[in-house]
Amino acid sequence: MGIMTYEEWMRRTKLGAFKPRSSALKFLDAAIKEYGRHPGASAYLETLKAAFIAWADQKGNAEDSERNRSGAVTDLMNQIIAFDQTNRPAAHLRPTGLLKDIREGARLMAEGKLKPQVKIHISLGDEDRSLGHVVYEDFDPTELNQAKTAWADAYRCAGMACDGVRTVATSDTEEARFRRWFGDPSPARVNEVSQGLAKMYEAFQHNKVTLANRPDIQVHVINGNDPFGPMQTANVSGQSVYGYVWGGKHTGSGYRVILGRWFLGDPDPIEGAAQTIYHELTHKVLRTTDHGYGKIKSRGFATMQAAKALENADNWAFYAVSFIKDI
Ligand SMILES: [Zn+2]
Repeated sequence: MGIMTYEEWMRRTKLGAFKPRSSALKFLDAAIKEYGRHPGASAYLETLKAAFIAWADQKGNAEDSERNRSGAVTDLMNQIIAFDQTNRPAAHLRPTGLLKDIREGARLMAEGKLKPQVKIHISLGDEDRSLGHVVYEDFDPTELNQAKTAWADAYRCAGMACDGVRTVATSDTEEARFRRWFGDPSPARVNEVSQGLAKMYEAFQHNKVTLANRPDIQVHVINGNDPFGPMQTANVSGQSVYGYVWGGKHTGSGYRVILGRWFLGDPDPIEGAAQTIYHELTHKVLRTTDHGYGKIKSRGFATMQAAKALENADNWAFYAVSFIKDI
């Protein structure tokens, strides 16, 4: 079994004019095309593998990608595995050997030693240091403006929440706000919230945050309750080898927020996009979880289960955005 042609790959993974191909996907496209010109050449297959991994790494689970609607991603993955199994010495047939090869390919690529055979522009994301330090990945120009507005809103909320909580004891408005999202304002609880809000504002100001636009995934499916927690390693066997490499990628030193369709798809930019950024960052900064979503559940926690409210990402996010929008 050979590797599918570039034309077949492009036809089967096309999603229409509104779904631009990411830089990593374009890299993979180019690698498939080049391999087609040198079928069977292992150097080109290594490039293709590395490009596949680089793209799949961004996907969570590449087989769940919309690009796999026709099964093209699964087919390509199987074709790469089959090629390896028929073209390598027996010692390399073991999946662990394959995994090592894939890692090696990815490492060489990361070090710039394994170059694609064609020159294409690879965008490293749009870096913005004007307010905090944000890298925007895979937003088109219109979406980029929306995302920047959302970041600015979330940033402003973070600062206002930090200041606001200091006056809970002296301001009726602030006392009511606290009660609404965190319950009874006992000194200990106010203190805990106050420290959490300060940590959040600190993160907005000083941590590098990557916002990755991934409209084909859902916000909360990355890794169960904690989208930033350590990834699990799959069984190293058969086809899951590739799954392991996808899952083995760590988030690195900065904070990486994967944003799904509703990030920009929600008609309300404050409760949609800005709230999402704040919500997702609380998972990383405050190690919050998702006991429940939405205003009603969050207010329910505040009233009846205040300990849960303190652990729930949405409670923190609603508290923060309530400073710039009545909710
Ligand atoms: Zn969450």
